[in-house]
Amino acid sequence: MYPKHHPSYELLLDYAAGNLPIAPSVIIATHCSICHECRDTLDTINITGAALMDDLNADSLDTDSLENVLTKINNQPKDTEIKYDYNSNSLTFDVPKTLNNYLPKSLKWKNLSSGVKTAELIADDGFNLDIYRIKSGYKIPKHTHTGFEYTMVLDGGFTDNQIYFGPGDFSFLDDTSNHSPKADLDRDCYCLVSIDSQIKLTGPIGRFINLINN
Ligand SMILES: [Zn+2]
Repeated sequence: MYPKHHPSYELLLDYAAGNLPIAPSVIIATHCSICHECRDTLDTINITGAALMDDLNADSLDTDSLENVLTKINNQPKDTEIKYDYNSNSLTFDVPKTLNNYLPKSLKWKNLSSGVKTAELIADDGFNLDIYRIKSGYKIPKHTHTGFEYTMVLDGGFTDNQIYFGPGDFSFLDDTSNHSPKADLDRDCYCLVSIDSQIKLTGPIGRFINLINN
């Protein structure tokens, strides 16, 4: 699996620094578990941070520091093994092993609309983590957000604003985004989704939910 859409460098920095809520962190960790490109970036961030902290702690930040950091990065062993697990709780495809820690034994699906079902994995103060199942060919009505939306495709795919997202692909949307994703015609699309849960009942998301329930 070679994802084409990735978290930004800034998001990976926030993830590595522990600045993200748990739900989006799980999505980024799941993406990184199957994306060599982001894992390499994350390794570089982590090693650079650790090496610079070492140097700062030793009070010896000098002209050799950058060279030392780069040497440490180049000497890191590369973990190239990507692990998948088959999970039987109503998912018919393999999921990245990282995600299995957060999957309940049985997913409880709720109808969000005629074309979208959701199953909650994590309920958190700021953000929930859900699996969305979008019916094949279903187009979610155009909507905007008042918060952030993190998404990773688990199986199938969708097209949004003429950009295709397939398995492993990551999407981040903010309150400037206006979109209408449409699932592939030949199969249902399963995504990991984290949306700011504080905006469930009001604002554009509330109107969106009202719209697709009619
Ligand atoms: Zn990536």
